[in-house]
Amino acid sequence: MGKQFDLTAFVAENAVENNQTFILTCNCGATVTIMPPFQDEYVRCYNCRSIIRMLLLEGDPGYVIGANEEGELILLPVQGSAAKDLSLLTDYEKKEIIKKAKKNMEKNKDE
Ligand SMILES: [Zn+2]
Repeated sequence: MGKQFDLTAFVAENAVENNQTFILTCNCGATVTIMPPFQDEYVRCYNCRSIIRMLLLEGDPGYVIGANEEGELILLPVQGSAAKDLSLLTDYEKKEIIKKAKKNMEKNKDE
């Protein structure tokens, strides 16, 4: 049985691998400062008390593709990523990123 957690945050490995302080943003908007060495997979938000599970992603993937309740593909932010903040992307840019990701997924299936 896994530990209970309330939220999952995707974190770019690049942001934590050089022993730098990492600022994680909770869904409630509060920020949690994570000091190196990066060991704990779970942190608690001091503001809303949520337990946040940090999922490290290799390198810096920029964004993660997820699905909303309607099953539509959506972009999820990767914290610590050097990519443009999702809120700064236009709808067109978001669609293009999803399109590319879909193509990659299909390519991987064929191989
Ligand atoms: Zn919070």
